[in-house]
Amino acid sequence: MAYTNSPLVSYTKISPNRTKNRNHAIDTITIHCVVGQCSVETLGNVFAPESRQASSNYGIGYDGKIGMYCEEKDRSWCTSSGVNDHRAITIEVASDTKHPYTVNSKAYASLLDLVTDICKRNGIKKLVWSTNKNDRVNHLKGCNMTVHRDYANKSCPGEYLYSKHGEIAAEVNKRLGATTSETKPETPSASIKAGDVVKIASNATYYDGKKTVPAWVRNKNWIVRECKGDRAVIDKSEDGKNAICSPINTKFLTVVKKTETPSAFKPYLVKINTDALNIRKGAGTNFAKTGCITDKGIYTIVAESKGQGATKGWGKLKSGAGWISLDFVKKV
Ligand SMILES: [Zn+2]
Repeated sequence: MAYTNSPLVSYTKISPNRTKNRNHAIDTITIHCVVGQCSVETLGNVFAPESRQASSNYGIGYDGKIGMYCEEKDRSWCTSSGVNDHRAITIEVASDTKHPYTVNSKAYASLLDLVTDICKRNGIKKLVWSTNKNDRVNHLKGCNMTVHRDYANKSCPGEYLYSKHGEIAAEVNKRLGATTSETKPETPSASIKAGDVVKIASNATYYDGKKTVPAWVRNKNWIVRECKGDRAVIDKSEDGKNAICSPINTKFLTVVKKTETPSAFKPYLVKINTDALNIRKGAGTNFAKTGCITDKGIYTIVAESKGQGATKGWGKLKSGAGWISLDFVKKV
C-alpha cells in the first residue's frame, strides 16, 4: 500500500529521529500529550536535534495547527516501543504541564480532524478503544488505540486525553460512518427531558435566534435542566466543567444519552478487590475524585450506571460518598 501524509498539515520539519520505512501497515493510533502548550514550530525544534532521540508523526499546537515531523511511511520514535510505532501513527498534542494535562478545545478539535483523516486514508474503518491495557497492547477485540503509558513508566497521554479516548473513538467513528449519510438532515429530537445529555448542532443559535452558539459550546455534551415545548434550558456540561445560561431551541439539539429512568433497583453488596479504589463524584473517570477506598472492604451499591471508563460500569455507594468502578469489585 502506498503511504500518504495528511493534507491537514500546515508545517513540516522532518526529524532525523526516525526509522525509514515502517515494517507494518498502519492500523493503530497513539495519541500523546506534549506536556507544554507549545506551537507546531516549537515541537519541530524539539524533535530536530539527533540527541533528542524522539519524534512523532504529527504534532498539534495549542492553536490547533498541525505539524508533521515524520512521514507516515516512516516509523517515528515516540511510544518507547518499536513494535507499536512501526504500526501506529503517533500524534503529540499540546497540553498543560501539570496533571491532568488538559488539552484546549482548538487542539482537541484538530485532533479529531487529524485522526479522522488518518483513518480514512489508511483504511481504518473503525477505532476501537479499551480501558484494558491487555486488550490494547495485544490488539484484542479489534483494539487499535494504544497509549504511551502502556510501554513506559509515564502518565502520557495524561488523564485528560486518556479519559477522552472513548469519546475520540466515538466521534471519529461517527465521522467515518457519516460519509454515507452526509445528506441526512439533523432531525430534532421528539422529546427532550430534564437529565438528557444533548449535543448542539453546528448551525445553532440561542433561543432568541440572535446569537450563534460558539464552537466550544457546540463541541461539548450538555445536560438538560428543563425543557418546555421547543425551549430547552441546559445549564451544565456533561463533564461538569462549564455552564451556559441562555436557552436553546430544541431543533438544534440531538439527544446522545437519555436520562436513565429509575427502575426497581435492588441494592447489593460488593467486596473491593484492589488496594486503592477511587471514589468519584459521578459515574466516570471524567468526574472528580472524592475519595479512595483502601480497606478492600464490603460496600453496598444502591445504583448502577454505564458511565465512562469502566468496562463493567459504575456503582453508587450507599454512603453517598460517590461512585466506584465495578471493574474492581466482586459481588458477595
Ligand atoms: Zn508520550
